[in-house]
Amino acid sequence: MHKEDIITLPNASLRKKSKRVKFIDDDVQKLVANMVSATLDWEANRSHEIGVALAAVQIDDLRRVIIIKNNFEDKTDQTYQVYINPKVIKYMGEIEEDFEGCLSVMNVYGKVPRHNKVKVEAQDIEGNTIRVTAEGFLARVFQHEIDHTNGKLFVDIIKDKENNFYQLTKDGQLEELSYEKAIKQSHILR
Ligand SMILES: [Zn+2]
Repeated sequence: MHKEDIITLPNASLRKKSKRVKFIDDDVQKLVANMVSATLDWEANRSHEIGVALAAVQIDDLRRVIIIKNNFEDKTDQTYQVYINPKVIKYMGEIEEDFEGCLSVMNVYGKVPRHNKVKVEAQDIEGNTIRVTAEGFLARVFQHEIDHTNGKLFVDIIKDKENNFYQLTKDGQLEELSYEKAIKQSHILR
């Protein structure tokens, strides 16, 4: 798949809840391959960003599947970890605000409060139950992606926060957006 297969707001599917995967069959394998190819194609067209993660809903498939890049620092590492039916089973640590973007929210970034430590339970691609304790940026990524499987986007969390919306300038800097002019009446908030 290609970057054009990634749906963006105001596509209503993004606010729908995904369904549990019951059997990990060839069709799930195919879904994962499509998610990876679409994300890598998106990344190949971005100079300042990494295709960190994707949820299946973002290619308009309502199954609880997410992929997260194994290496956030190195663009040449194009491998992803797959988590099926992921859920946060424990929120830990402090709540921290930091920047997030989303492949389904074009040109808008946000400063989003998240727990800085979470325990996640999921199944791997072989169907084994796995538990991961994630901290820092990885904890943030898990919360962002698991929110997607529940029909929630980062902009929904900060929709009332007037100073938390940003855009990326051509040279890769984040610049605050006017809430009144750019956000309040826009199609990204429900
Ligand atoms: Zn996202």
